[in-house]
Amino acid sequence: MTDRYYTLGTTSITRVPEKLFDDFSPNALLPLWNHETVETHRPWLVPDNLDAAGQKLIISVHTWVIKTPKYTVLVDTGVGNAKPRPELPIFHQLDEPWLERLAAAGVTPEEVDFVLLTHLHIDHIGWNTRLVDGQWVPTFPNAKYVFPQAEYEYFLSDAGRQSIGHAAFVDSVLPVIDAGQAVMIGVDGGPFLDDFHFHPTQGHSVGHMSISLHSGGETAMFGGDVMHHPIQVAHPLWASCFCDLPEAANRSRQWLLNYLADHNALYFSSHFAGTSAGRVQRLGSGFAWHFE
Ligand SMILES: [Zn+2]
Repeated sequence: MTDRYYTLGTTSITRVPEKLFDDFSPNALLPLWNHETVETHRPWLVPDNLDAAGQKLIISVHTWVIKTPKYTVLVDTGVGNAKPRPELPIFHQLDEPWLERLAAAGVTPEEVDFVLLTHLHIDHIGWNTRLVDGQWVPTFPNAKYVFPQAEYEYFLSDAGRQSIGHAAFVDSVLPVIDAGQAVMIGVDGGPFLDDFHFHPTQGHSVGHMSISLHSGGETAMFGGDVMHHPIQVAHPLWASCFCDLPEAANRSRQWLLNYLADHNALYFSSHFAGTSAGRVQRLGSGFAWHFE
């Protein structure tokens, strides 16, 4: 499985796939989904992002790998292997050759310098840790794991402790904190290293952030779960059922789409299938998506 390498200034970016999920009911993910409205979009959604019958969404889970002249950086780490998720059967006890695919992308766990996390949901933190002799240990022994502090604080709150994602926080985030490998980003976000910038994009989760990358006068953006499916570029007010604060999520999606169009940014999605990457252009009063 060889994915495309994108070049942005002096950096290269590629994807490490974890798993494709092809059995999502459109209305279950996007309650405002309307088959008639979607009809005009079928030519660019089928087959990679919508099945031919228009009844199933195809959703990818993957990691982005960035090589800058100085660093090897990952953005979001999928579901992970062997994680017990009985309350979310599609994510329960996965056994995917993700580490082998990472190796195929030319990266060993020891080489990873930074793991940047848009938020701390189950399908974005899994490969933070792996099971060794019955213990969850950091997969990347030399990396700093960088994530929004508000996400961490949420999982310490009563609501967070009772949430469906708390088990993932315990087995995939606490071990990297205990190992002294965590770096937290304050609520306002801001620049990180030379080339990255954390942007607050609250809504999908309480502390969600999008991460931009700047090199050679070009801009890339890793938007986490501000969008789950490319139809949301055309319909930015179709919030997903997984968004904790739907109105804030809609505002963040509008902000992101304006940013992408204004900067002609290359967008690296968390869950679009196909290449998972592309650009947003203005179309009338709205936006259009183009895969690259
Ligand atoms: Zn997600």
